Amino acid sequence: MNYKLSGRIRIVCLFITIILCIYATLTQKSWLTVAAIVIYAVATLQYAIFHRCPRCGEGFRYLTNGGYCPRCGEKLE
Ligand SMILES: [Zn+2]
Repeated sequence: MNYKLSGRIRIVCLFITIILCIYATLTQKSWLTVAAIVIYAVATLQYAIFHRCPRCGEGFRYLTNGGYCPRCGEKLE
């Protein structure tokens, strides 16, 4: 898995988490809150593992330094 796909999965999972939390609040179903927390945890974990520079393996966190890796200078698409 490359870092772009990882970032997209994280954003999609964040939306799912928000929707599940709203739905759980409206319907008073506490297991939906647990499901939302699990989805968020999985999204965060895969992001920490896969959202990295393909060349040097540096984790990007939230910055990619204007399209370049902040560590090795690899150009990122
Ligand atoms: Zn790099």
